Amino acid sequence: MKPRVIIVGGGNGGLLTAHRIADVADVTLIEAGIDPGDPVPPAFLHEHGYPDHDWDYTNLDSGQHLVRGRVLGGGSTVNAAAGSRGQPSGFEGWGPGWQWDDLLPAMRAIETDEQYGAEPYHGDSGPIRITRLAPGPLDDAFSAASAGAGHPLCADHNAPGSRGYGPWPTNRVDGGRWGALAAVAPLVRDRITLRDRTLVRRVLVDGGRAVGVDVDGPGGREQLFADLVVISCGAFGTPELLWRSGIEAPGIGEGLQDHPWLMMNVLARNEADVFARPVSGSLLRAPVADDPADEFQVFPFSTWLYDHSAPRASYSVSVALMQPVSRGSVGRADDDSARIRLGHLDHPSDLDRMVRAVMHTADLIDEMASSGIVTIPGDAWWRTRDLSTAVRQRVETYNHPVASCGIDRTVDRRLNVEGVEGLKIIDASVMPKIPDGGPNLVTMAIGWLGGGIILGEIA
Ligand SMILES: Cc1cc2nc3c(=O)[nH]c(=O)nc-3n(C[C@H](O)[C@H](O)[C@H](O)COP(=O)(O)OP(=O)(O)OC[C@H]3O[C@@H](n4cnc5c(N)ncnc54)[C@H](O)[C@@H]3O)c2cc1C
Repeated sequence: MKPRVIIVGGGNGGLLTAHRIADVADVTLIEAGIDPGDPVPPAFLHEHGYPDHDWDYTNLDSGQHLVRGRVLGGGSTVNAAAGSRGQPSGFEGWGPGWQWDDLLPAMRAIETDEQYGAEPYHGDSGPIRITRLAPGPLDDAFSAASAGAGHPLCADHNAPGSRGYGPWPTNRVDGGRWGALAAVAPLVRDRITLRDRTLVRRVLVDGGRAVGVDVDGPGGREQLFADLVVISCGAFGTPELLWRSGIEAPGIGEGLQDHPWLMMNVLARNEADVFARPVSGSLLRAPVADDPADEFQVFPFSTWLYDHSAPRASYSVSVALMQPVSRGSVGRADDDSARIRLGHLDHPSDLDRMVRAVMHTADLIDEMASSGIVTIPGDAWWRTRDLSTAVRQRVETYNHPVASCGIDRTVDRRLNVEGVEGLKIIDASVMPKIPDGGPNLVTMAIGWLGGGIILGEIA
């Protein structure tokens, strides 16, 4: 008889794990949100952050709403579909079994890179299509400004060690988001039992061993039993479920990290230029200061696409610090819900480096404005004498929370929850520290590797 595995959460980690083990285990995948179905309805391919399919979290540091997809595919169904992996050096410190060389085979297995699939560090037969979009006029202006500032041209931002400006790898293909919902769920649905619209209230633990889950779904409250329970509820949802289950493993909710992010809005002279390439067009990656391993990202996009109250000609040149040292936390409220503090720029070094990155981005914007393609608003917030204060006041989330139940804290290297038998975590929360790329592909790679660990244990 096949071992019974319950996976809680149908996001990146959960769907990739299910895909990997579905032929050797009897898998039940439980997702609190809906399964929009296959083919994916157009709204779920194109829109960003759906209020009706959101967990409604808040960053207590700032009061800002934190988008978290409550839908099959999780974050990858609502996200910006940027497909950058980060530098190999960004995984140093993840420890044995989780270094770049360990993750690379998984990164290759999950992708089909449409331009560079033949390269040894890329895949050409995985479910996630990665492409690079043709530039629009504003991308060209951004590239010219980057070149003028001395940055090198970078054809493939996912080539190890790459730096400079160039097209942004994206899993937005043919206009739609090619995430876990569109690309992985169709490979999985017929091989597992999928229960959508079903909230897992707690993991059932008996004698120090996870034995199943208590769920609330369309059929009411019931208990489901399994030989292994995998929690894949994401960086906020996983600590919440552990607490609700009365599980007291070390470090739950500690170590949370996110990339701090800032928008610097200008106005395109020609509105049509913005929509020639509204998102995932260009990306600049550069060291912040003297440390070659340090990195910030700058990328331009249509503000209106994310905020329909903005003028359609509004164009955001945004900047993110990719190796923050600040840590936040997912704390525990009295009702066991998550009290989230992202901790952006708490460490003085992060604030200092972010200010420098903003100053450099302001120079790029000045250069774009001098070519006449954009105008800078008279009240541009970055034109202030006290940039540190302005940066602290305006910092936002890049929507990349990770590391709230990290390896060597809450889970061991085989992703087992410390102190509980038969319970693993496989999602973004297990990252020991934040990578200097986006977490979307990295979490899928963790799902692939985590599934491989289970395969080895079942064999
Ligand atoms: C608006 C936004 C934009 C982003 N843009 C990018 C980007 O461009 N590039 C990039 O690399 N990354 C991006 N990200 C981040 C990326 O999407 C996430 O890092 C990734 O989705 C994390 O995967 P995960 O499996 O850990 O969690 P999730 O994808 O969040 O999946 C968790 C799943 O578990 C379900 N769940 C939670 N609790 C329960 C429960 N108790 N019972 C049942 N189900 C439950 C949730 O509904 C969800 O489906 C973005 C994220 C957001 C929100």
